[in-house]
Amino acid sequence: MSKTKKFLLSENDIPTAWYNVVADMKNKPLPPLHPATKKPLTIDDLTSLFATELAKQELNSTDRWIEIPEEVRDLYKNYRPTPLVRAYGLEKALDTPAHIFFKNESVSPVGSHKLSSAIAQAYYCKKEGITNITTETGAGQWGAALSYAAKAFGLELAVYMVKISYEQKPYRRSIMQTFGAQVIPSPSMSTKAGRKILTEHPNYQGSLGTAISEAIELALQTPNCRYTLGSVLNHVALHQTVIGLEAEKQMEMAGEYPDMVIGCFGGGSNFSGITFPFLRHKLTDGKEVRLIAAEPASCPKLTRGVFQYDFGDEAGYTPLLPMFTLGHDFAPAHIHAGGLRYHGAGTIVSQLKKDNLIEAVDIKQLDTFKAATLFAQTEGIIPAPESSHAIAAAINEALKAKEEGKQKTILFNLSGHGLIDMAAYDQYIAGDLTNYDLPDEEIAQNVAKLEKII
Ligand SMILES: *Cc1c(COP(=O)(O)O)cnc(C)c1O
Repeated sequence: MSKTKKFLLSENDIPTAWYNVVADMKNKPLPPLHPATKKPLTIDDLTSLFATELAKQELNSTDRWIEIPEEVRDLYKNYRPTPLVRAYGLEKALDTPAHIFFKNESVSPVGSHKLSSAIAQAYYCKKEGITNITTETGAGQWGAALSYAAKAFGLELAVYMVKISYEQKPYRRSIMQTFGAQVIPSPSMSTKAGRKILTEHPNYQGSLGTAISEAIELALQTPNCRYTLGSVLNHVALHQTVIGLEAEKQMEMAGEYPDMVIGCFGGGSNFSGITFPFLRHKLTDGKEVRLIAAEPASCPKLTRGVFQYDFGDEAGYTPLLPMFTLGHDFAPAHIHAGGLRYHGAGTIVSQLKKDNLIEAVDIKQLDTFKAATLFAQTEGIIPAPESSHAIAAAINEALKAKEEGKQKTILFNLSGHGLIDMAAYDQYIAGDLTNYDLPDEEIAQNVAKLEKII
């Protein structure tokens, strides 16, 4: 019998509800705090920044399932359900008894998982009569996804793009502009937050934290405008659960249940998306499944950060979130996985990590490109540098299974393709890429600046 390579669902199998894991958590995440009063945030505090429905989702800790609006499902149909693929080629190259599956989010028209939340956020903004939205983007994946979603719902979008990525990844900027968005390199002189950091560090290459501050500032100053974020927040993780809900059905089709589920980790959205539906089996049925976040060794908030209240941005405009963090002014090394250069982890994932319900590993840049190259050569897909962290972690687990002579079933999320990141591959091929060591003292110094609220 010939082997099944791809497990495909039909449009009717697109989930009708997102899964809200908080409803099933025994220890709920600590509440977000108002940055000035340090009191728990209310819906009203949040609605100056976000669409009301998104603010409600952000604070919802009771409803397990939240219905996906028909208009959102209709746009999901452009590319969902995404395939689940058995990586026979990779298994063979590793000579491992492990079965390796990946959920292929790279087939989305913008090349990453980010569209699942972009569509939802643009929809709710439109529905509530908002006309303009702002956001930030690191490698440009979120900006590209939101540019398309904003256009689909007729919203005007301004994107602050981290300057290093604006220069390293000019084609992502072109994609956003093609969809009709306005793109500004960050830090910029157009906001107080941008001017301040440029005055202090004229050559600053930008960070997600700074770009978030700029996008929030513009949103607060523009009439009928809201801010949107592509990761970290609870409502973003919620929207991404379509990934894991589809994968759950597809693993059933494959007749297997994963021993472990792996996602790369920036702020946590794709990791949450692929893992939370499986975590549900662990929380409600006591099922054994390991959930592994793969983060860059140069930006290791889950493996080496502290659990503390911190801001989501560099200037301190956002609410204080209880998170694993390296400190909101942490300046990560300029690794090519731009989408993972973020100082903190979402509050749900942070609580889960604190309660040992999930694990984290850190991966060095050169190991991610080595893994990416093997994956490309055996599966025919050039992975995004971000996704390559998940691939490297999956390969490590497959090799461990080989050593132990055990059959393990590994599922990882291929969060995006790397076809617009070829400059990074060029540098790797030329031997010009390096690892970045992050000394303990640097982390200690940075987190020492945090106010000790916990
Ligand atoms: C943005 C991005 C990430 C990191 O963000 P998360 O919110 O942690 O998922 C990972 N992979 C790709 C392809 C991305 O675009």
